[in-house]
Order: sequence, then structure tokens, then C-alpha cells
Amino acid sequence: MTQAQNVLAGVQARLLAGMETRGLADELGATSTAAWLADSGRVDPATAKRQVTVARSLQTLPGMAAALQRGEISAAHAEAIVAAISALQRACPEADLGAAEQQLVDVALAGTPAAVRETGRDLVLSHTPEREPVAEDPELNRLDYGTGRDGRGKLRADLDKLTFEKLRSVLEPLAAPRPGPDAEPDPRSASQRRVDALADIVDAQLSGRGGGVGRAQVTLVAEANDLAGKATFVDEAGRVKDTRWPFHLSWTGSVSRQVAQMLACDCEVTVVVVDGHRVPLDVGRSERLVTPAIRKALIVRDGGCAVPGCGRPPHWTDAHHIRHWAEGGHTTLDNMVLLCRAHHRMIHRGTWQVFLGEDGHPWFIPPKTLDPDRKPMPAHNRRRRPAAA
Ligand SMILES: [Zn+2]
Ligand SMILES: [Zn+2]
Repeated sequence: MTQAQNVLAGVQARLLAGMETRGLADELGATSTAAWLADSGRVDPATAKRQVTVARSLQTLPGMAAALQRGEISAAHAEAIVAAISALQRACPEADLGAAEQQLVDVALAGTPAAVRETGRDLVLSHTPEREPVAEDPELNRLDYGTGRDGRGKLRADLDKLTFEKLRSVLEPLAAPRPGPDAEPDPRSASQRRVDALADIVDAQLSGRGGGVGRAQVTLVAEANDLAGKATFVDEAGRVKDTRWPFHLSWTGSVSRQVAQMLACDCEVTVVVVDGHRVPLDVGRSERLVTPAIRKALIVRDGGCAVPGCGRPPHWTDAHHIRHWAEGGHTTLDNMVLLCRAHHRMIHRGTWQVFLGEDGHPWFIPPKTLDPDRKPMPAHNRRRRPAAA
């Protein structure tokens, strides 16, 4: 049954491809093949568009086309492969698309379209480890709410991966189904259970028990070599190695090395560092995390976020390793600087750089776009000091 549907999807894709090359839509009085399909086949315009995109890719992605024709993968798999390939091409024009296609088809043959999308994201991360993926960009975050016409509260959110991961880590355990007294199944839908979980958190916050909610934990497991950027994840053939992209969060999947390194610096997220055999390195932990004594010393020296013009108070800051500990940097006063979350992220992106000056204080090098000479600037709490007369 499924295979027959898949074969049919393949036939449809070939027919649509034929229409495209012969410009039939025009003859039939439609503005495009997708518009014709939406109209005559009574499918959603978005679905029609996706089907035409797959049809157009049959030529350029022969491996996918063959698998679809044999009925081995579904239309949804094909759409995921096409989307993954075009994302990879946009992110890294020199990537070996043939190898990537083969790998995506292999994943499609064994797994779900979601698995194909996940591999697609891993391919992009592996080819462009220095770039910040859109999924992690907090500047795109939105949370809007208001009252609907029915008088009910409406929420709409668009979150970066890390924030979403934390939200889910807190919500999911509280939103688990609760069987009734006679073990009858929880009558609430998953969506309703999430609202109840959110209400529990709000109640706890209101009653001052906020700190005790859940005991949820966000955990990232990473290899020390991977964090240091010493490992590569693409083999000579351009395929993601069978060791997958190493930085994963449990709910939201792969994250970039920049975010992983930022989390490993000093964060509320637990980072378990393991060796090549996935054995946790417990020495890493004690060496990695800043001690209360060092944090106190940092607060005395930096006052708060040290980025010029910021100065957010100490309890909003992370202790950043100037030279990352995974690259051999030590957790000592002369290798650390206090940064608020936004500036911590900025430093890990590499737009600004920080170093410790001979005066024992952090100095910041602005990006070329801000200062073509890239003249180092003193830390925030050092800026107004009068120059030595
Ligand atoms: Zn850091
Ligand atoms: Zn700051």
C-alpha cells in the first residue's frame, strides 16, 4: 500500500516535471505548474509548490528520483531531501552535493522524513562549523500575546534552539500524562497538558516557590576534542561521518560548536564532557567550572559585564574562558572575563575579541565594521578612568 502510494508519487513527479519542461501550464491558461496543480488537483497551494519543487529536482537528484520511482521513499522523504540539498547548497556552494544526496537517500531508506531533515541540518553544520545557524539566532526571537475576539489570551512564540530546549526541558516533565486513580488514562490532550504545566510554573512563581519547580536539567554531551574544534565531521567524500555531528540537545537536536562552547564555559546547562569512548571525564568538570573564589575575584575586577558600554550586573553574567578550556585554557582569573549572555554569545561568534591586557584587565577588539583600525577598547568599568596625567 505504502509502496504503491510512493510509486504513484514518483509518477506524479515525473508528469509534473514533463509539464514544466514543455511549458504546458501556460497552454492550459495557468500562471505556473503549481497554480495549475493547486487548481485542478484541489491541493493547498503550499503542497502544490512543494510537489513541483520535487519534480524540478528529479533531474539534478538522480539518486532520489530513482528511489522515489522504485517506491522506496515517500513524497515527504523526497521533499525533505530536496529542502536539505538546497539548504546545503545555499550554506556551502562548494559542498559535494552528490555525496550529500546519497547520504540523505540512505537515511530516507531507513528512517522518517524527520530523520532526513535532521541529517540535512547536520550536513549544513558539518560543512560550515563557523557559521551561526538561523535556528540559533536569538535576534529573531518573538513572543507576542494579546486578547483574541473571544476574549481569550493568545500566545505566539518563535524561539532560538537553546531557549526552546530550556523551555521544553522545564515543561515536558510537568506535562507528562497523569493516570487517574483507577489507572484510567489521562483524558487531557498533549496540548492541554502543556497549558496545565505552564500554569503550574506560573503558580509556583507567584507563590515564591519558583526555584523548586521541576528540577529539570538541560544536558549537552560533548567530546573534548570536538569542543576544541580539532575533530572533523566530513570525510574526503563530503559525507557526514558515521560519528554524527557531536553537539545535540535532547529535545531540539543539533547545535553549532559556538553554542556548545558557550554552554561549556559557565552555564546553567550541564555539559558532560566525554573522551573518545564516551566515558565522562570528571576531571574536566572540576577544572572547567569557575570556583566561588574566582567568581568573587572576577566581580571585583570586572564589576559586571566587561564589554565597553554594557556593564550588566554580575548576577546576569557568565564567566567566559578567554582561551577555551577545551583548547587548554585554564579556569583562572587571568583567563576569564565576566560577560552578560548577549555579549557572551557575541564573543563566541567571534565578531568582537577579548584579551587580557598587561594591566591585568580585559580589553576588547571591535569588529572592522565598527572600527577599521580595530583599536583595543578597555573594559566597561575602566572606560571613564582619567588618563594618567
Ligand atoms: Zn564563553
Ligand atoms: Zn554585556
